[in-house]
Amino acid sequence: MTTSPVTDNYFENAGFCGLRDCLEKIRSNAAKIDDPQTAPVEEFEWLAASGVMQVTLPGEALDFEKPDTASLLHLFKLVGQANLSVGRIYEGHVNALYLVHLYADEAQKKEWYRAVREDAAIFGVWNTQNQHGLTYLGVEGGLVLEGAKTFCSGVAIITHALVTGNIDLPERKGWQMMILDMAKISDDRIDRNSWKTLGMRASGSFTTDFSGYKVQQRELLGMPGDYLRQPHFNGGAIRFAAVQLGGAAAIAGNTLDYLASLGRTDDPIQKIRLAAILTQIVTGELWLKQAGRHFDEWVSLPGRSSELIAFANMTRTVIEEIGISVMNESNRCVGARGLMASSPLERLHRDLTFYLRQPAPDATRIAVADYFINNLNQTND
Ligand SMILES: Cc1cc2nc3c(=O)[nH]c(=O)nc-3n(C[C@H](O)[C@H](O)[C@H](O)COP(=O)(O)OP(=O)(O)OC[C@H]3O[C@@H](n4cnc5c(N)ncnc54)[C@H](O)[C@@H]3O)c2cc1C
Repeated sequence: MTTSPVTDNYFENAGFCGLRDCLEKIRSNAAKIDDPQTAPVEEFEWLAASGVMQVTLPGEALDFEKPDTASLLHLFKLVGQANLSVGRIYEGHVNALYLVHLYADEAQKKEWYRAVREDAAIFGVWNTQNQHGLTYLGVEGGLVLEGAKTFCSGVAIITHALVTGNIDLPERKGWQMMILDMAKISDDRIDRNSWKTLGMRASGSFTTDFSGYKVQQRELLGMPGDYLRQPHFNGGAIRFAAVQLGGAAAIAGNTLDYLASLGRTDDPIQKIRLAAILTQIVTGELWLKQAGRHFDEWVSLPGRSSELIAFANMTRTVIEEIGISVMNESNRCVGARGLMASSPLERLHRDLTFYLRQPAPDATRIAVADYFINNLNQTND
């Protein structure tokens, strides 16, 4: 696919010489780590060596101070295309660093940026929880955590976990972020039976119990409510949508390869399906490119906040539909034989089917409709 917002040479031109090789290694290793108990350790060493683990830090190519969200989204797409689980964990790492950029004080930034640059730190963001969710207990001499997080992507390799939970102190009340030192969480706190899934097995998103963790003041990030602050919270959905589009692009490429291997690309009906697949991928790229531009233009303009959120909501919805549609067309192209375990398509379909399930898809569509209804007069002008 060459119709990307930035060409695939962009990152190499920007000094990420090894990115292409790195992504190729991740892609060819994907079947080997398709197991929740096999963490993508090497994958993150390769990503670190290519420079992209620190790409958004001050002075780097995609420094958040000089935002180029369209290029960042394209990078997410490329990583997701190589392996959707690795893309999921990578997106969490960048999201955590974005929240640090937005809300950390100078001392915290210095420490966490240093950890990425010098200690190959990997960050994650774990907000999802069930009824046994996280609370901060104010005890004599400090704060102690109680409860667990679900869907902790990459927990086996994450060094710094940005988690959220309810805090209730005189000076802080509400949904508070903190960044935990995962070296202090013993392995028996990770429920390794909690990730038996259709796909995304390599993301190893196990339920993790943080009860008893003693929180230091310097580990608290921002103030209660910052995590949910708009337009960042809903507007950020374009990041996972970009990773998802990478999964759809991988299916597109493998579908074409499969048909070519059987000499079936001359068939006009297969061509019609291939045309639909390519059109969908390019459509997704165009949405991402525009979503990235709007994000950079509007994120600091309060008057454009609802527009930014509506555009992000539409982007994630369009890309969800694209993912479903590409899988549907691909299924018809390759048939049962193409979906057997010997083909990469078997895993790619499982991964994308599962990863398309993101929070509140119905509420997202309703929010788009509400935006449309509430802005009807302006739209008709
Ligand atoms: C591979 C993967 C990795 C993930 N990694 C992370 C991570 O690292 N960190 C993190 O914080 N989270 C993570 N998540 C969780 C993710 O952000 C979502 O919270 C999760 O996928 C939503 O789960 P669900 O589809 O079961 O949601 P549900 O909310 O159960 O939604 C399922 C369906 O029910 C509908 N629905 C929702 N509420 C209602 C209601 N009250 N009444 C009727 N219908 C309703 C929804 O619209 C949807 O159609 C991950 C998810 C996946 C799939």
